[in-house]
Amino acid sequence: MKKITRKVLYVLLTVSVLLGCALNIPVPVNAAAPEQMEVHFMDVGQGDATLVTCGGHAMLIDAGDDTKGTAIQNYLQKQKITKLDYLILTHPDADHIGGAPVVITKFKVGNVFVSNFEKDNKTYQKLIQSLDDKQIKLLTPKVNSRYTLGTASITILAPGKTYDNPNDSSIALLLKNGNRSFLFTGDAGEDAENDILKTGTDISADVYKVGHHGSRYSTSKDFFQAVDPFYAVISCGEGNSYGHPHAETLNTLRTSGVMVYRTDEAGTIVASTDGKSVSFNVPASESWKAGEPTGGSANSSTKAAAKPKTSASSKSQATTPAASAQTKPAADAGQAATPTVNEPSAAPATPPQNETAPAVEEKPQDSTPPATNGLTYVLNVKTKKFHNPSCHSLPTTNRQDSTESRDSIISQGYVPCKKCNP
Ligand SMILES: [Zn+2]
Ligand SMILES: [Zn+2]
Repeated sequence: MKKITRKVLYVLLTVSVLLGCALNIPVPVNAAAPEQMEVHFMDVGQGDATLVTCGGHAMLIDAGDDTKGTAIQNYLQKQKITKLDYLILTHPDADHIGGAPVVITKFKVGNVFVSNFEKDNKTYQKLIQSLDDKQIKLLTPKVNSRYTLGTASITILAPGKTYDNPNDSSIALLLKNGNRSFLFTGDAGEDAENDILKTGTDISADVYKVGHHGSRYSTSKDFFQAVDPFYAVISCGEGNSYGHPHAETLNTLRTSGVMVYRTDEAGTIVASTDGKSVSFNVPASESWKAGEPTGGSANSSTKAAAKPKTSASSKSQATTPAASAQTKPAADAGQAATPTVNEPSAAPATPPQNETAPAVEEKPQDSTPPATNGLTYVLNVKTKKFHNPSCHSLPTTNRQDSTESRDSIISQGYVPCKKCNP
């Protein structure tokens, strides 16, 4: 009798999973309730080092330059970390791997992921030496491969091929916990961003770690529209010689009403999520101040960064909470202190997100907004998102105005924008 019941249950389960697949209902990778995840964008000056913790597991993405190894070690120890499940070194530039030998020496390290680009210089050799000393093998993860960190999942997005420069060879990944996701692209430039787009993977993310420290050669328009973040974090050094972040990137973020956080202004930034909402330990930046290249070690491509335009300021400033760009919060950003931002105020009419129901069913079928000239929705033919005409982040390229109904647009494969929730 028990056996039969179990068999029936098994059949029912199989049928429901198959049905779920057929109806294209996403089956969660990790069905358990999301554990608290914290993403620490550590202030390592000009460079990257991001610590992710989730349910007692830890991952470090990049390790700053070789002057930052000890600071990273101290920070990790303060967080009571003894073991890293993953050390991901996005690419072999010194501002990403320099501090890694200290981390490898001082902590237990599980998997070490590196880009497929090798460098023949001292910093890289030191890294290889430290790995050899502890007999740790390197791995270049394959695109679309998945890993878990507690209840969070890590999906590798790049590099899917070889490039002739280290930046484009960066490992890119989407980190997801519950319904909230974070995107990391290292220093990948436009070519690499386009290659990520070509994979067709859904790269939309709540938090976008801005590519290449806010360089104008990353965060290209199409790519940014596909990410469509609420929040953006820029890791760069105060007064860095490259002029990061560049004005063009800040303008892209500003005109789409994204809340920006900068390590050069705020120090270490910690984002926390329970899988439903995201909060930051510091207020968003309101400075919109681009860096000034000073030549010196800056490369030829960083000349004459323009000041940000002021025309769009009133709109985007209205969507950001009170911030104190001038007052630098305490460098030790271990505990969340200041305002909890559940959903950005950019979309005040958005109903709270239902965790289980598919997004497309959240609204009544007849909720077509008032049409102007018959215009019902604005489509992005490339990212396949559709927006209310009043949305703050309407596409500037690949835009198509539609007079069709919501149902008809969805039947063509479009998905509603997460901000305006059309
Ligand atoms: Zn870099
Ligand atoms: Zn780089």
